[in-house]
Amino acid sequence: MAQRIGFAGLGIMGRGMAKNLLKAGYELTVYNRTRKSAEDLAALGAKVAETPADAARGNNVVITMLADPPAIESAVLGKGGVIEGLESGAILIDCSTVDPATTAAIAEAASANGAKFLDSPVAGSKDAAAKGELILMVGGEESVLEEVRPILEVVSSKIVYAGKSGLGTMLKLCFNLTVAHMTSAMSQALVLGVKSGLKPETIIETLMAGAIGCRFFEWKGGAIMDRDFATNFSLKLMHKDLHLVLNAGYTHNVPLPVVAAVEELFAMAKAHGEGEEDFCSVIKVLEDLAGVEVRRR
Ligand code: NAP
Repeated sequence: MAQRIGFAGLGIMGRGMAKNLLKAGYELTVYNRTRKSAEDLAALGAKVAETPADAARGNNVVITMLADPPAIESAVLGKGGVIEGLESGAILIDCSTVDPATTAAIAEAASANGAKFLDSPVAGSKDAAAKGELILMVGGEESVLEEVRPILEVVSSKIVYAGKSGLGTMLKLCFNLTVAHMTSAMSQALVLGVKSGLKPETIIETLMAGAIGCRFFEWKGGAIMDRDFATNFSLKLMHKDLHLVLNAGYTHNVPLPVVAAVEELFAMAKAHGEGEEDFCSVIKVLEDLAGVEVRRR
């Protein structure tokens, strides 16, 4: 059974996942571009690698949780990247949200090393990563998923098998397409409603009451009303995902007119200065334009 794990990318999500793997008793070698995050995990028993290649070397499972395609280009496919150290017979699992072309490039590079590969992006945010309750969307050979299922179960509460290699990535893009629309729809409803005299609590309470009610409106609507924009998932990464969704639409000849508008709303918010904040801060640029602030009364 695969027991020794290499882990590259200890950001908001990766550090929670890596901590849970350590707690579950796996031997972990970790790499992070900013070394301090890796050293924090060394205090919990992880070995710190100098390069992504060193994190992969000698391990039978390697997990990557990186920001975006350029991060994969540098830390996985590039010089000193994971692929350089990936052993023949090892299993590489990429949990980052990227585009299908990047996923295909990793799969090809892993295969050239005689390694196996799964794309396994995640849903659920900082808390779900810390609690080991992520939803995983897995693409690749089902038999490979079965080999690493015990490891993946440590970080997740649900594993969805999406299909062949690349379909985990596509499922994640469809997922975040939906989340971005829900966020922008709720934000516009709050700004319009509050400017016209409604209490924001009334809007959220009513959204929650019927068939469309969901925890998301309560969570992000509550954060907006409390003016709590501490980052669970950064706005700049949601903007990245929408950009990747539009590219996928182009590739598959699928018109995505509303995604294009939502992507530009997130572009405006990033240019407005909210890139590092939680993605629900997309409301701030709308508030600014409308001359109103959505705050709990
Ligand atoms: P994050 O906190 O920004 O962490 C990003 C990680 O990527 C860090 O380890 C960062 O290293 C590394 N990185 C970025 N650029 C790099 C480069 N050029 N070379 C090497 N390493 C690089 O992001 P996150 O929130 O953990 O998200 C990680 C992935 O999960 C993203 O693809 C995101 O879209 C996805 N995701 C996030 C959430 C969420 O709620 N946060 C939910 C689902 C999926 P440094 O520490 O040195 O910056």
